[in-house]
Formats: sequence, structure tokens, C-alpha cells
Amino acid sequence: MSSLDPKLQDVYDEVLARNPGEQEFHQAVREVLESLGPVVGKHPEYVDAAIIQRLCEPERQIIFRVPWTDDRGGVQLNRGFRVEFNSALGPYKGGLRFHPSVYLGIVKFLGFEQIFKNALTGMPIGGGKGGSDFDPKGRSDAEVMRFCQSFMTELHRHIGEYTDVPAGDIGVGGREIGYLFGQYKRITNRYESGVLTGKGLSWGGSLVRTEATGYGTVFFVDEILKADRDSFDGKKVVVSGSGNVAIYAIEKVHQLGGTVVACSDSGGYAVDEDGIDLDLLKEVKEVRRARISEYAEARSSARYVEGGSVWDVPCDIALPCATQNEIDEPEATALIKGGARVVAEGANMPCTPDAVRAFAEAGVVFAPGKAANAGGVATSALEMQQNASRDSWTFEHTEERLAEIMRGIHRRCLETADEYDLPGNYVAGANIAGFIQVADAMVAHGV
Ligand code: GLU
Repeated sequence: MSSLDPKLQDVYDEVLARNPGEQEFHQAVREVLESLGPVVGKHPEYVDAAIIQRLCEPERQIIFRVPWTDDRGGVQLNRGFRVEFNSALGPYKGGLRFHPSVYLGIVKFLGFEQIFKNALTGMPIGGGKGGSDFDPKGRSDAEVMRFCQSFMTELHRHIGEYTDVPAGDIGVGGREIGYLFGQYKRITNRYESGVLTGKGLSWGGSLVRTEATGYGTVFFVDEILKADRDSFDGKKVVVSGSGNVAIYAIEKVHQLGGTVVACSDSGGYAVDEDGIDLDLLKEVKEVRRARISEYAEARSSARYVEGGSVWDVPCDIALPCATQNEIDEPEATALIKGGARVVAEGANMPCTPDAVRAFAEAGVVFAPGKAANAGGVATSALEMQQNASRDSWTFEHTEERLAEIMRGIHRRCLETADEYDLPGNYVAGANIAGFIQVADAMVAHGV
């Protein structure tokens, strides 16, 4: 761990004391504070107005009971969360995660990250996040529907198109957003399209939203490569995960001339030197909702490795698109040994601080999720724009807007890093640029 500026150390100690046991939240806060040392020197007004302390404390945290009935008539109980972290730039915006690992510390880390990510997009959206420890795995459609209805029965009173706009994250896709939207409409008697994003195309959704996080991550890497007069052409890429982010990252890498040679799920990984067959992967994951082992079984050029680390597969570019802290120092060392030159986070905080340090020491370019995966939430903001104007844009127009936003984020990261004499440091660039945008709005709004 590198040391913090004494004023920032005080803020961090306070965060530790106020939020005991929330390791992921501590990690996310520390990572941002480590970048803010040079800002505090230049802008004492942020310290005087306690901006950094206020940023680390959510504006509102909601924890609620979610009872629901399973298919056998048994009553099940889960816990729901919505952390409305910061509304300086717009209504709270961020996804819902349904996964057994969800607890307040996970939702707070995600909500905290979301503040800076959303600021970087340049769109008028604040930061928030929510979810539940509900495990959708193995649950029937009807069970997922009843769970979503119960979840929204409480959540509806806290959200709204000008208040808080949830979307998907791990475990929450188009199906869940549909059930959540249906219940919101039923309870409120309002067709308020802008209350949720990631909606279906026939009822207010935006083209490209499904693809946006994966596509955006690859657009961001394309900018990194271009800055070095390079391209995806002929590059070997490894992607972790095989969910929504991973699938559309793979699609865009292939469109830009690279080859994705491996992807994974929580059981293991598939290596396919011919390049991952996207139609087959979509059929296995999106239609059958099955395991990656079934992909390998159905394809002669692929081999399945049970329980192994996908980062052992040599590559030029690594895109972690699964979940937090999936790359620690040993995985980073394996990637460096395997020849990786660029690592970009499609997931939120998939690399630990030790991994990020190992990349920096080895000269590997590292793009943090706040910048690299901001395309998902940016396209959510485009969906909100279309809803507000009762319009729907073409795929080409929406994708061009996304590409433009990703180019803008890339530019801001590099310009900010230069301004603080940290050339090429995407972590510092993203954290400082995102922070200043939110901090200035908070100063303007008063205490
Ligand atoms: N869950 C996504 C993220 O981590 C998207 C959130 C949204 O679209 O609001 O940024």
C-alpha cells in the first residue's frame, strides 16, 4: 500500500471507523484517495468544505426485507439494498446486482465507483447502486418474477426518473428489468419509462444498451492502442466471464480484427485458439443459461479447464469482465509472464491494488473500470435521453454516440494525468477528472 497524504489518511481512518467490516468499500475508497494527494495540494477548498469526507458518506442507504414465494409454496427471505450515494450531477444512477455475495459493503463499493464513472461520462447522472443477496441460479422464471415484484414493492417509493434510476448489473438483465418495470407501473399507475434503464426495445429500451459495456470497454482499449499507433489487428485477447459484458466485448474485439482465445465462468475456462465462436457462446449462455463447459463440449477446437485460472492463457490484451478482485498478484504475474501489454477492466474493480501495482512495475498499461467500462451507464443515460424526448435512435447513431463518449473519457483521463504530471496514468487521470467534476458541483451547491 502506498502512503496517503495526512489529510486524506484522516478521511480514510474515519471511513474505516464508520463502516466496519466493509472490505470492498474500504478498498474502493482507498484507491481513489491514493490518487487525490496532488489535488488536495492544489485545491485546499475541497478539504475546507469537507468535500472528500462528504463524498465518502452515502446521501441515503436503504435496506429492506424481500419476502417471496418459491414454486413449492415455501416462503423465502432475502435482503434488498439501494445506496443513493451522490446526486451532485444528476439523479442517482447505477445498476442492481442479484448475487449471494451481495451485502452492504459490496453495494457501497459499487455505488462509490459509480459516482466517478458517471461523472467521467460527462452525462448528467449521479451515483448509486443496489441489489440483493438473492441467487437467481437454478430459480424458475416464475420465481425470479415473484422475487422482482417483491423487491420493487419496496423499492418503488425510493426511485423515479428525476430521483434514482436503477438498471442491471450481475444477475439482472432484460428479463429482471421487465419484471421490475411491470411492478413499478402496476403500483404507481405511471408509464414512467425513464425510471429504469436496460428496458426491452419495444417498451422504451435503447438499441446498443445490451452491448454497451462490452463494446465500450473495447472502444477504450482501441483508443489506448491508437495512442501508441497500434490496433487490435492480429492481437490475442483473453476475456474473463461469459455474461453480458464478456459476450459483447468478445463481439467487438472480433469486429476490430483481434482474436479472443479464452473466456470463463465460475466453474472454469474454455480455450479456443481458433477464436471464441460467438454464436455458440450466445446460444449456451443467453438461450440455454448453461455453463461454459457446454461450449467446450460442442466445439472441436476448444478445450475446457475446470477450476483453473483463465489468466494462465498467454495473450496481448486482458479484459477482466467477471467480478471484483478476480485478479490478484499471482494472476497479474501470470498475465505479465504470458506477454500481456494492456489490461482493461470490463467488470468493476476486478484487479486488486497489488495486481495494479504489479502491472505498473511491469509497464503494462492499465485501464480502470471507472473509465473503461463506463459505456454501459453512458448508454443508460442515452436511453434516458430517448425516453425524455419520446424518441428512439438507430443502432448506428447510438453506437456512434457511445464511441464518441468513450473517446472523450479516454482523452480526459490522459489530459488530466498530464496536468498532474503523471503521463499515461489512467488510474490517476480517471480518479482526478471524475472527482473534480463532482467536487465542483458539491462546492457550488453548498453544505
Ligand atoms: N451496472 C452497470 C455499471 O456498473 C451499469 C449501470 C447503469 O446502467 O445504470 O456501470
